[in-house]
Amino acid sequence: MAIFNKLTRTQPVCYFSFTKRLSWLFRRHTLLLRGMASNAATRYDFLVIGGGSGGLAGARRAAELGASTAVIESHKLGGTCVNVGCVPKKVMWNAAVHAEYLHDHSDYGFEVENVHFTWQTLKAKRDAYVSNLNRIYRNNLDKAKIPTILGHARFTSDPEPTVEVDGRKYTAPHILIATGGHPTVMTDDEIPGASLGITSDGFFELESLPKRSVVVGAGYIAVELAGILSTLGSETSLIIRQAEVLRSFDSFISANCTKVLQNSGVDLWKNTQVKSVRKTEKGLEVTLATKDHEKKSGEEKMSTIQEVDCLLWAIGRQPNTYGLNIGEVGLKTDHGGHIVVDDFQNTSRPGIYALGDVCGKALLTPVAIAAARKLAHRLFEGKADSKLDYSSIPTVVFSHPPIGMMGLTEEEAIKSSGKENVKTYKTSFTPMYHALTTRKSQCIMKLVCVGKEEKVVGLHMQGLGCDEMLQGFSVAIKMGATKADFDKTVAIHPTSSEELVTMR
Ligand SMILES: Cc1cc2nc3c(=O)[nH]c(=O)nc-3n(C[C@H](O)[C@H](O)[C@H](O)COP(=O)(O)OP(=O)(O)OC[C@H]3O[C@@H](n4cnc5c(N)ncnc54)[C@H](O)[C@@H]3O)c2cc1C
Repeated sequence: MAIFNKLTRTQPVCYFSFTKRLSWLFRRHTLLLRGMASNAATRYDFLVIGGGSGGLAGARRAAELGASTAVIESHKLGGTCVNVGCVPKKVMWNAAVHAEYLHDHSDYGFEVENVHFTWQTLKAKRDAYVSNLNRIYRNNLDKAKIPTILGHARFTSDPEPTVEVDGRKYTAPHILIATGGHPTVMTDDEIPGASLGITSDGFFELESLPKRSVVVGAGYIAVELAGILSTLGSETSLIIRQAEVLRSFDSFISANCTKVLQNSGVDLWKNTQVKSVRKTEKGLEVTLATKDHEKKSGEEKMSTIQEVDCLLWAIGRQPNTYGLNIGEVGLKTDHGGHIVVDDFQNTSRPGIYALGDVCGKALLTPVAIAAARKLAHRLFEGKADSKLDYSSIPTVVFSHPPIGMMGLTEEEAIKSSGKENVKTYKTSFTPMYHALTTRKSQCIMKLVCVGKEEKVVGLHMQGLGCDEMLQGFSVAIKMGATKADFDKTVAIHPTSSEELVTMR
């Protein structure tokens, strides 16, 4: 279904003069009428494929700057983040934090008995929240007079880059691909029975809390979902191929997070891979092979986990280029199928741009949003240098406790500046919140500094509050703060963040 409101567009076109605007309106309406008569492509200034984080941000900014813009979305407005990513995940994490704090209530003098958790209540409220966001996104597009074209876009073989949705054609001098990605799925050919499992998308469809869960993967999505399931009361195993989770993070964090997961009750299987999955009367039977590194032969030990009612693959994500026909416009892709772009989000075909998860770099909502806004300013405000700086992007993992990190790991700093030029500061302590609680959870922090001036190039931490602590510090680091600048800042007491300005 395609919804057009092009003819009723009234928003100001701020970068055009009045006369230019008149002729532009005339040209657009003539083209539209001609298009309707001959079934030629409907023309916009900016055509955005994908109504997710990047696409919506780019479309709205371009429209604000006066470009006639349309968004094509094949599924739900808001994309991964709103529907099956950050937003519903954070709701589930918040719920899990409640479950953690319940253990501490009696230590703080609260008598809380017979507490009962209902997954269905949480899911219903979460789904309603997400549906409301879908509506808000739709209203925002309508208010900005941006037509939403619902359907799957694919490039045609027309000489001018053109996109077809349900038999109708659309074109623009500037076309943005912001189609995101989807979870990697294991096939039954690769692992017999693999398709009996679900992915993170399926996690958000679960109608009840699984009694017994097996999560496969060592990246942040695996860590977060295993943490949520376990904290909410599902007996959870996490299967990782190597010895630690989050292996691309600073080793200080990956080692700590691995330890914390184990201490918190997640049944962690290191050096292990799933060999097969079988459905039995009592649930799934997951067969595992664990490498014994102590034995030189690298012998594998076989084990099974029985009666599993949720097997969740969180083994990576792939770009949504399938069915988009990018071959028709000759776009270059890398070995993982991501669209190759330069620093300005230009693809190999002039007039076609790509950003966000489909490009495979820093797969985060704010990255897609920022890149899209920068692109809109470049294309429609004449800011030729407008591009996103992809260095030092702060990021949080909603583990228990959360992780905050930004910039270079110690290993990366040594590689780029040499060991002799890198100095690190570390601390580890029990946050004051836990002074009264039987349940304990450590906070660890590390600053990576380079050069004589000790410029802070990396910050890595895990502990209570680190998720909210990071943003402010990331401003300082992005501005080039040195360790001396941190030291000059008066501490806020009593907080965990004060440790960051008092490290020695
Ligand atoms: C479980 C999970 C948790 C996450 N948590 C976080 C987090 O805490 N913080 C964070 O910053 N990031 C998080 N992310 C990552 C974040 O969701 C993505 O980085 C972000 O959504 C990428 O935005 P995008 O615009 O590139 O793509 P998306 O938001 O995925 O949008 C792409 C849109 O394009 C549409 N589309 C695809 N193909 C076509 C086509 N051919 N025609 C028309 N439409 C099409 C899709 O339906 C989709 O709506 C998480 C992701 C997952 C899976």
